[in-house]
Amino acid sequence: MASTVKIALVFPDLLGTYGDSGNAQILAARARMRAVLAEVITINAGDAIVDDADIYVIGGGEDGPQQAAVDLARRDGGIARAFERRAQFLAICAGFQILGQAFSTSDSDNTPGLALLPVVTRRGAQKRCVGEILVDPDPSLGVALVSGYENHGGQSELLEGRPLGKVLVGVGNTYADRVDGFLSENVVASYAHGPLLARNPGLADLILARVPGILLGPLGDEGAAQSISAMRAERIAAARRIARRDRVLGLVSRHRD
Ligand code: GLN
Repeated sequence: MASTVKIALVFPDLLGTYGDSGNAQILAARARMRAVLAEVITINAGDAIVDDADIYVIGGGEDGPQQAAVDLARRDGGIARAFERRAQFLAICAGFQILGQAFSTSDSDNTPGLALLPVVTRRGAQKRCVGEILVDPDPSLGVALVSGYENHGGQSELLEGRPLGKVLVGVGNTYADRVDGFLSENVVASYAHGPLLARNPGLADLILARVPGILLGPLGDEGAAQSISAMRAERIAAARRIARRDRVLGLVSRHRD
């Protein structure tokens, strides 16, 4: 039974460009709000990657740091060992790509990933995917619409398994598939920055609840719940508004809602 939830924040100095390190803070805060002890272990480039954490949080970044991150992670082996024993993973954008079989950067068309997820990422001819994203999550999760912000050139094709959800606004994994991310019993992956868990605390609670031995009671903070719900409503409305505007102007075919 985990007495303290150990949250490993992997390479925020390489994969922190889009604010995804906030996901680790949200996980810790949501645990502590229920009197569950939580510790964030920050692993910077060059540090050994602990292999005994309960949750690994990996964020997005530019091509160069992404390449450095996968090289370091491969040499270290800690992520692969943690994955093998089914620790929980939250992987965003570049973090999602490096857990896959292969990805492209501006320098290379085929950089091997850590081969932990059945996904291959390629740079297509299409324009970069930038903007609000709204995802209808897999119904088995029982969480509300997922709101975020995407910014990626990679197009990620799932070779098997299921995505986090269906894309309502934005692009997600590929222009063609209309789905975002990847979902399994120990992985939540997405293209959504935000940070994702600040915008979608239901996902934070889901990941925490997956840690063996953790019992999450009710939040008991009505004020926090209200301000989160107001912020979510504002972002979801903004995404729908932008999608409508783009449709009216015939700007891009990236939105369907
Ligand atoms: N460099 C990757 C891409 O452009 C990932 C970008 C990101 O993490 N936001 O596809």
